[in-house]
Amino acid sequence: MTFKTVIEPFRIHSVEPIRLTTEDERRAALAKAGYNVFNLPAKEVLIDLLTDSGTGAMSRDQWAAIQHGDESYAGSPSWEIFHAAVTNLFDFAHVIPTHQGRAAEKILFSVIGGPGRSVPSNTHFDTTRANVEFTGATAVDLVIAEGHDPKALHPFKGNMDIAALETFIAETGAENVPVVMLTITNNSGGGQPVSMANIREVSAVAHAHGIPFFLDACRFAENAWFIKLREEGYANADVADIVREMASYADGMTMSAKKDPLGNIGGWLAMNDPELATQCRNMLILTEGFPTYGGLAGRDLEAVAQGLSEAVSHDYLQYRIASTSYLGEGLTKAGIPVVMPYGGHAIYIDAREMLPHIDPLQYPGQSLAVALYEVGGVRGCEIGTLMFGMQPDGTEKPAAMELVRLAIPRRTYTQSHIDYVIEVCTEVKSRARSLPGYRITQGPKVLRHFTARLEPVI
Ligand SMILES: *Cc1c(COP(=O)(O)O)cnc(C)c1O
Repeated sequence: MTFKTVIEPFRIHSVEPIRLTTEDERRAALAKAGYNVFNLPAKEVLIDLLTDSGTGAMSRDQWAAIQHGDESYAGSPSWEIFHAAVTNLFDFAHVIPTHQGRAAEKILFSVIGGPGRSVPSNTHFDTTRANVEFTGATAVDLVIAEGHDPKALHPFKGNMDIAALETFIAETGAENVPVVMLTITNNSGGGQPVSMANIREVSAVAHAHGIPFFLDACRFAENAWFIKLREEGYANADVADIVREMASYADGMTMSAKKDPLGNIGGWLAMNDPELATQCRNMLILTEGFPTYGGLAGRDLEAVAQGLSEAVSHDYLQYRIASTSYLGEGLTKAGIPVVMPYGGHAIYIDAREMLPHIDPLQYPGQSLAVALYEVGGVRGCEIGTLMFGMQPDGTEKPAAMELVRLAIPRRTYTQSHIDYVIEVCTEVKSRARSLPGYRITQGPKVLRHFTARLEPVI
């Protein structure tokens, strides 16, 4: 007998209190935070769906692994355990540990980026795009057309448009394209997976032009699970083997261990090319640390190594994807427009459709994120014009989509927490017509969504 309820494949071992606040308290907190939810103190947030990055619960075995950490400066056994766990899934010749994913990006693009170069991806994540552009290179998104349509029911909406990639390389010149990237799953495009067939094709096109192919593999396990569920020929495959096949088509990868590797901190850069590895290691020593610890403590390396083995477990992934869909289904039933199909790590509300009266340059996604906090203490994240609207030349243009991402920290919230989130979203929907647009009063040029201050346009 198989039951239809997919349960959490764990029980609670240690608890952390969360504080209930009133709507008046939250209104005051928002004004103080310049209407940017990134500026809110976390203790004033009830359900924190800002990000799934580093916010998950570690397992008993990960905490045990932390005790096993060895803090030797060079050649720590914790490094060997980490290295073995990484190469067990991603068999690259060189693994370079970093403190986060963006440190891996910073190192990679300082070596291979620069003016006149262009880096295509399905959709660059915000830190990836920023690190490419910081070197003077251009970041280009080539996701398939369905990837821009919140309603299109394509099983692999994160796929890259192969014809567009061919045209792009022909027009740019292969010598100006230092790497082709694929983000799996496609975070900024709605947490949508990339098919094995597409990974294989992108790899073939890149290699036909002598260009290396790298994965931004932060959500590799969720991507592998979707391949298992949706792609012909993989239903009976082991998740770890699907991951190994994905990696086999690539020449390297960047990784944030704060995502699927179930760490609170960590990341790595890996590749096969020995010369590139030498250049990257030299940068690593300059900015992160010695090559056997990078930007990490030995205990962090061990926690990530243990997390990697848990991330590819069938029961964990089944629960993970079912619990994200549960939020999507609840919002859909309440008539709230969300990106379809439901993503792996997050549900994305379509703020453009929910708040059609707000001009994109007045940030409808930000307005919705502010309202979710004000009404119910729920913190989500705008992924729209506030995040992506600023152009390298200083002008502003509307983003392709105006979304609010409700990211689900791994193994952290229960079904009743999610039922509450659905209720809050439903209440915000009933107030939608009265929500204002926003203008920026203060903000930096790069990654402005993190620190900008705003005010309502009334
Ligand atoms: C989180 C993330 C990064 C950056 O990783 P950090 O650890 O936050 O620096 C890069 N790419 C994708 C797809 C991500 O989700």
